[in-house]
Amino acid sequence: MRLSSLAVIISAALAAQAQAATIFPLDRATILAGSYFDVKVEFDQEIKPEDVNISVNGQPLQDTLKGDYQFIAQENGTPASTVWLRNVAIKEAGDYTLSVSEGDKESKVSWSVFASPQEQKAKNIIFFVGDGMSVANRTGARILSKGVYEGKANGRLAMDQMPYMAMIGTSSQDTIASDSANTMSAYLTGHKSAVNAMGVYLSRSEDNLDHPRQEPLGLLVRRVPGMKFGVVSDAEVEDATPGAMVAQTRRRGDKDKIVGMFYNAQPDVLLGGGSAYFLPQTTPGSKRKDDTDFIQKFTDAGYQVVTNNSELTSIGADTTKLLGLFNTGNMDGVYDRRFAKNEVTAKFPDQPDLTTMTQTALDVLSKDNEQGFVLVVESARIDKDSHPLDWERSFMNTIMLDQSIAIAQEFAEKNPDTMIVVTADHTHGIGIIGTVDDEKEGEMRDKVGTYDEAGYPNYTDADGDGYPDDLNVSKRLAVFYNNFPDHYETYRPKLDGVFVPAVKNENGQYAANEQYKDAPGAQLRIGNLPKDADSGVHAVDDVILTAQGPGAENYHGYMENTDSFKVITDALALSNRLQDESSQIPEDSVDFTPPSSKAAQ
Ligand SMILES: [Zn+2]
Repeated sequence: MRLSSLAVIISAALAAQAQAATIFPLDRATILAGSYFDVKVEFDQEIKPEDVNISVNGQPLQDTLKGDYQFIAQENGTPASTVWLRNVAIKEAGDYTLSVSEGDKESKVSWSVFASPQEQKAKNIIFFVGDGMSVANRTGARILSKGVYEGKANGRLAMDQMPYMAMIGTSSQDTIASDSANTMSAYLTGHKSAVNAMGVYLSRSEDNLDHPRQEPLGLLVRRVPGMKFGVVSDAEVEDATPGAMVAQTRRRGDKDKIVGMFYNAQPDVLLGGGSAYFLPQTTPGSKRKDDTDFIQKFTDAGYQVVTNNSELTSIGADTTKLLGLFNTGNMDGVYDRRFAKNEVTAKFPDQPDLTTMTQTALDVLSKDNEQGFVLVVESARIDKDSHPLDWERSFMNTIMLDQSIAIAQEFAEKNPDTMIVVTADHTHGIGIIGTVDDEKEGEMRDKVGTYDEAGYPNYTDADGDGYPDDLNVSKRLAVFYNNFPDHYETYRPKLDGVFVPAVKNENGQYAANEQYKDAPGAQLRIGNLPKDADSGVHAVDDVILTAQGPGAENYHGYMENTDSFKVITDALALSNRLQDESSQIPEDSVDFTPPSSKAAQ
């Protein structure tokens, strides 16, 4: 062994032994100049503040970073101390190294603080997220919507026609395989986070709301006078992806609190499902655990509130603040709403399409607006239908997303100072491998055609609405997920409702749903996931991002999801436009100050 490599190993081993503390933000964090964040230093044992030295670029912490200092001798009642510095904002760009030393032990992290360029390139940002949208979704939506023949696609999706593209990494602070909470949070804060968390780093705090905070884009926009923001989703609006625009919690399941965070941030437009978390617990169907009536609070704050498509499409031209809640839970997908005429949408028969919500949001946000806006639009059911292996519905929802993108592109033609980004928060393990042809002889698997046996599917779009006239054609796409619970593979679309591949058995494990056993030719597939999985899971595969408009040229090659935040804030010149405090926080805002922070004041 060469001496130098031996030295590296020894010094690495020493470094591993001599860690003084865990520090947040993490090493390699990229931080927007002027954005608020919390610094947390967690020691493994109880220390005295005078025995440790915390410095930033060689200067004492409290001389360099301004914030609310708090020392906790025993965090969580255990002999391990913590130092907090909350509500820090670094205004000067540069590299910052925070070092902690205690005796002969040392820890350090380095952060890169970036300021926006002087020149503002884009006035508006429209950020589309196909939740769980994988390469197969783009390919499948193109085939179903436009057709393909003799090797060439018959047309292009709106999202295909964007000049800039990048591959996006989606791993998180704690794991290679992420969920929507931290991945969307990464796009919207520029910081990585952990599974189930948004707007915070995962630390050892026990209170969900008391982890080291990052400032999400919705809150940053609120600090730019006159600038607006909107969130549109066909999930519950307080679900992880839309919620990440404002949320700071370690648990995406804090949906009642995320509604309060939306209220505090006062988005100019908020459209989607999830009304159950807005209603006081006394209202039947409410999922709140208190008596707060957020529909009333939003109404009192000057919002026009709508609950179905008819109301949404007849709002007054003078509407400046709009709350639309169209389902108690997640909204239904486009296939069931528009085409299947099944029982799925019986409870909420008049839910708007994502295209209508996108158009309305653009109308409201752009009216008399000098300072621009950020609009986030999510097609959530791309993911929500991929989990139960229902690729037909997932592809149909991808087409709906694409038609919403086309509306944004029309807007951008008239408003060329608009950047449009189309991406996914994460992917699924899904692939298109050929066709299933009913004309072929044999059992169902013999009808799967691959390579030259695949040929082309026979979907049609006679009415030209961009959707296939029929999903259950005689020669259809063969699409398979690479991870699944036990289930019956039917090789056919589930016309009556979203596929339910597995159900819990008497042992509490998920087994194939017998409801599909008698579908003609159904074949039992034994799962390759642990038996507590009721559906397919997210993939670690990169996401494809496409973009257009001023500033979008900075998307290229491989990027982390956190890097997208810099592209957006650069285009908006955001750090130059931030005011220290937002004047737009409502007087009766909900208090989410962590209890220990209150005690320190
Ligand atoms: Zn998912």
